[in-house]
Amino acid sequence: KLPLVAIVGRPNVGKSTLFNRLVGKRLALVDDRPGVTRDRREGDANLLGLDFRVIDTAGFEEDDPETLPGRMRAQTQAAVIQADVALFLIDSRAGVTPLDEEIARWLRSGDTPVILLANKAEGRAGESGVLEAFGLGFGDPVPFSAEHGEGMADLFEALLPHI
Ligand code: GDP
Ligand code: MG
Repeated sequence: KLPLVAIVGRPNVGKSTLFNRLVGKRLALVDDRPGVTRDRREGDANLLGLDFRVIDTAGFEEDDPETLPGRMRAQTQAAVIQADVALFLIDSRAGVTPLDEEIARWLRSGDTPVILLANKAEGRAGESGVLEAFGLGFGDPVPFSAEHGEGMADLFEALLPHI
């Protein structure tokens, strides 16, 4: 059975872009509008020879389980709890937001190991965001660009101990 990796983060940080890069097929819908990925997407991933199963999650904005966004959040949490390791993405260009901090608090309260990816870090626009991400409490963030494929070797090294 393949190890399970869950991708988590607030809308628009690049989760589906990373999922597509890892799975190599257009299975997840990528869109500029926040929250466009409606369902949980899973696929078999390969990263530099490392095989695992990856889940692209969507939804962490709403706590009320009576609402659709609330059910999406519950799905996201279930995926993370089930996973061997979570990839927590932030947007280095936007910096750390209150929702990032809320997700971080929830992740810290659980048992799933977390790798923090400071996405959109290509070029220099993300430098301050990468530094800010250190404050989320998951150690040094991995500077990353899902769109440009930068940081893949560092992600590989960070994943190795967990899968
Ligand atoms: P999700 O809502 O977290 O799944 O985010 P998406 O994968 O749908 O991406 C949201 C937007 O960010 C899209 O316009 C992507 O093209 C863009 N994006 C994703 N990764 C990167 C990156 O590494 N660098 C930059 N500059 N943009 C990115
Ligand atoms: Mg998405």
